[in-house]
Amino acid sequence: MSSSATESAESSYSLVVDEEPPGPLTQPFLPVLSPPPPSISTNLGSQGRVSRLLVRKRKPASQPFASPAAEGGEARSGLNLRSKAFRKTFFPQTPEKLWNDWHWQIRNRFRTLAQLERILQLSEEEREAIRQGGLQLPVAITPYYASLLDPLDPNHPLRRMVVPRPAEFIHTPGESADPLGEDGHSPVPGLVHRYPDRVLLLAHDFCSTYCRYCTRSRMVGHGEMAATQARLEAALDYIRRTPTVRDVLVSGGDPLTLSDQRLDEILSAIRAIPHVQIVRLGTKVPAVLPQRITPALCRMLRKHHPLWISLHFQHPEECTPEAYQACTRLADAGIPLGSQTVLLQGINDSVETMKELVHRLLQMRVRPYYLFQCDPICGSAHFRTPVSKGIEIIQGLRGHTSGYAIPYYVIDLPGGGGKVPLQPEYFVGRDGNDLVFRNFEGKTFRYPDPIPSE
Ligand code: SF4
Repeated sequence: MSSSATESAESSYSLVVDEEPPGPLTQPFLPVLSPPPPSISTNLGSQGRVSRLLVRKRKPASQPFASPAAEGGEARSGLNLRSKAFRKTFFPQTPEKLWNDWHWQIRNRFRTLAQLERILQLSEEEREAIRQGGLQLPVAITPYYASLLDPLDPNHPLRRMVVPRPAEFIHTPGESADPLGEDGHSPVPGLVHRYPDRVLLLAHDFCSTYCRYCTRSRMVGHGEMAATQARLEAALDYIRRTPTVRDVLVSGGDPLTLSDQRLDEILSAIRAIPHVQIVRLGTKVPAVLPQRITPALCRMLRKHHPLWISLHFQHPEECTPEAYQACTRLADAGIPLGSQTVLLQGINDSVETMKELVHRLLQMRVRPYYLFQCDPICGSAHFRTPVSKGIEIIQGLRGHTSGYAIPYYVIDLPGGGGKVPLQPEYFVGRDGNDLVFRNFEGKTFRYPDPIPSE
């Protein structure tokens, strides 16, 4: 990714300046996760680099939510104390109101080695990968999300998702830049038509924070696909001419990094197509830039019902008070929320972590919808787990928590084969007229299966 391309991507989103930053929360209970760990004590040298960091021990991911009372002031005020400490350390001149302005967050993203060196004690591996530059995907991390990273531990789950490693440059057999075969199902630029009744409209290629495991790393962040009228008009025209399309998913790049006005125009144009029944948005904004979910945005979105939103939460530590508030605002606007989580090695590949994540999602009024087997994009081997791991996780959830908390575990088949669900085997076999099953505790039970009449 060249810097000029990055700049181009940077300029492809349009700004408005009248957004309201999130205000104080009124909910009595907030899912506050990590403590404000950086007891960061920094000593910025003349190069602006962190030369000393002291970090309080992190709360383990397995620790359940504390009660509202136990959470204390952080829960009641809605302040994420970790982010607050980070702001005071690295942006001492920035008032909280400005920190909560999503435009400020985008303008101040961490994108270069020098910028990341200021806030993280980088490993030699990370440094080398950033120096080389992502082959496909640039680096960008909002200050808010950066504040959630462990400055000392390169293996911190959130850090691994956004800071590159040299493993990104290693291609293993079976990997591909476009594993889902989207380019081959693209009748017009920026539109994918893989299933008969629904299309994927790529709003633009800009995201506030780039995820190293991104399925669309071949195209996002390159600054080559802006939300221009000509491109979107061609895509809309295709939908108008295709009456089988009843469901339009607007994704990207992150559509919620467009201005309210531009997004309103796009949604209005889709809504004006008579055969389109529902519109969905795919976004990671509530996890990486929750400040974007303003009351003004929610007022605009609710005009376009039935509207559904797929969110991307990967780890319980992403479920901060800010994320809680963002999801609450969207849910209060009447928008059903579902999370699409990607199973990632060393990040969320344990029953314990996944259970904590799905419980927190439900508390944020987000239905854990899909658990995706990581797509075999180029350089993804370090993120991918064996399929048996996903089945083990579902087995550890089914029967052990509410049904609403259990996502569908799916593989999106390489080559455009679509999603197939995977689950543990509960059916043992038939014994006469009985079907025999094994339940979540390993006990067997019989069901008298009605014999169909001849
Ligand atoms: S937000 Fe979505 S599209 Fe953007 S980099 Fe992350 S996974 Fe890819």
